[in-house]
Amino acid sequence: MPLYRYRCTLCQQTTEQFAPSDKIPKSARCPYCGMGAKRELGFHSARPSCWPMESDACGCHPDQREEFMRTAAAHGIPTEFNHDGCAIFTSREHRKRFCETFGYYDRNAGYGDPTPGGPFRQIQQEIEHG
Ligand SMILES: [Zn+2]
Repeated sequence: MPLYRYRCTLCQQTTEQFAPSDKIPKSARCPYCGMGAKRELGFHSARPSCWPMESDACGCHPDQREEFMRTAAAHGIPTEFNHDGCAIFTSREHRKRFCETFGYYDRNAGYGDPTPGGPFRQIQQEIEHG
């Protein structure tokens, strides 16, 4: 379903909403002040935002969820794991910090994605080279 953006006529805040493309509401209610918000023409995205993102690759066995959540929190990166054991990342920065701390990286990394040179790699090198 495409995503549409609405701008509040009073406070100018924007809000985004999914709608079927044959029934696009022209207006919405502003979640900040409760006034009417008008649809911004020209803005729509066929692809929904990918956050929060569920990651199987960074996940764990469902029985280990609690342990993984404690470990992530202990490293300063509080992360939820769903019932299938998938890690749930709330933002690109969250995913990057998690991956770099636990030694994962994105082979197709772009700007802001986890790379092989993160803190985990430095720790690994220190261990390997004494
Ligand atoms: Zn408003």
